[in-house]
Amino acid sequence: MIYEIDENAKAKAPGAGGWRLEHSYAQLPRLLHVAVGPTAVRAPRVVVWNRRLAEELGLAAAAWASAEGASGAAAEIFSGNVLPPGAVPLAQAYAGHQYGHFTTLGDGRAILLGEQITPRGERWDVQLKGAGPTPYSRSGDGRATLGAMLREYVVSEAMHAMGIPTTRSLAVVATGEEIWRQDGARPGAVLTRVAASHIRVGTFEWVAARRDEGALRALVAHTLQRHYPELAGAENPPFALLGAVIERQARLIAQWMSVGFVHGVMNTDNMALSGETIDYGPCAFMEAYDPATVFSSIDRHGRYAYGNQPQIAQWNLARLAEALLSVLHPQEEAAIALANQALGGFGERYQRHWLAGMRRKLGLFNEEPEDGALIESLLTWMHATKADYTNTWAELETLGETEAGRALEFQEWLARWQARRARQPQTAEDVSRLRCANCPAVIPRNHRVEEALAAAEQGDVGVLERLLAVLAAPYDYARARAADVAEYRVPAPDGGEAYRTFCGT
Ligand code: AMP
Ligand code: MG
Repeated sequence: MIYEIDENAKAKAPGAGGWRLEHSYAQLPRLLHVAVGPTAVRAPRVVVWNRRLAEELGLAAAAWASAEGASGAAAEIFSGNVLPPGAVPLAQAYAGHQYGHFTTLGDGRAILLGEQITPRGERWDVQLKGAGPTPYSRSGDGRATLGAMLREYVVSEAMHAMGIPTTRSLAVVATGEEIWRQDGARPGAVLTRVAASHIRVGTFEWVAARRDEGALRALVAHTLQRHYPELAGAENPPFALLGAVIERQARLIAQWMSVGFVHGVMNTDNMALSGETIDYGPCAFMEAYDPATVFSSIDRHGRYAYGNQPQIAQWNLARLAEALLSVLHPQEEAAIALANQALGGFGERYQRHWLAGMRRKLGLFNEEPEDGALIESLLTWMHATKADYTNTWAELETLGETEAGRALEFQEWLARWQARRARQPQTAEDVSRLRCANCPAVIPRNHRVEEALAAAEQGDVGVLERLLAVLAAPYDYARARAADVAEYRVPAPDGGEAYRTFCGT
């Protein structure tokens, strides 16, 4: 079955407010989605609003939010009380392996309004997360807490500022309603999430489990067209898609590792085919370097620990390959051979991206065979001394003058690094520039995020706004050295070890 976007369903020109919604996903076979709208809320109020993203999307909504105050038209739309023109709301079906076990899931609290076509012709999903129950809600209430949605907003926008592919956050609107969680009544909120798409490894697993080959081929074609259009004419589309997704995930995970990001819940339903970081639940940034770092309270065995992420990504990609088997080749054996061929490339691709990223952090412009060992030695030292991962990279040049850096082991490492830099033609300024562009000076440190969320829950968004402003320029060292930013660079007192995050809130 050939998948085509129905031209009649295309919005020809932007409607009121700059909305120009299309619905290519909605035209996929019915087993992939169900029509359902948001459930209205009592007293919506905009808590945080991403003006720049709204402008990129072509939404004039930026103007409404300021002109009409926190409870105006933007609050009505981004809470789900009023549908924007052209919206065709739906919940997406998907399955997934959660902690290694297969489950059927689907959007239990998220509703896709459609795909906004930007003035530059890009297509972005606009989804309301926490917008009320859907047929996939199981025993859940379809809602989200203000704290969890602000957390996603802060961390996803920080990731974007670092140059890491991610879903974006357009707005968080408090619902004015209380919702019940383990720790009692919490304020509810809706997050407007913007993404290249919300197609997950679990989306493919869902179709494969239903054994609908036509739907699977349609989903392959749709995904290729949206995220890998250069491969649309491939001889074997499922094989081309698998290879392209493996490459993007290898690159993405290497970027996570480079900045010390721990996703925390890398279930296959939380891995996007677009190569964007998706589903910010129990995620957090590592402070003291330790590959075993785990923040999620429910990840008791450390399945999703910092150092396991590349391996888990490969495991998830194997689930994608399995889901594609029936369309990879008519003969099962040949299909398995193709799947293994593609999966076999992950390790080498990941290693290549990781090394390239780490070389940039060291200010290395060319390649030498011993570079991997040089990086590993530094990481070993960080681990042994519980050094702050972010600050070690950011201050590598001057670290030798500190108490920790005066240790013989580090001094020896510095000499190796110095000798290595001397073997390349670039100047110290070139090295510094490359390093600054690859070592974020500020990350969303967990205690600062918690502080901002707690203040926002009490009605003070100033702390959150200041944090967001600092996180928007992670590579701006002139800014990072200013007195008012210094406090955001201080690690948690205990190296962040005791920090715990919670899922599904
Ligand atoms: P997550 O842990 O956020 O990736 O969610 C896993 C699954 O649980 C997804 O299918 C969600 O839609 C669903 N889910 C999480 N929280 C809720 C909730 N409060 N109500 C209904 N479904 C939920
Ligand atoms: Mg999820």
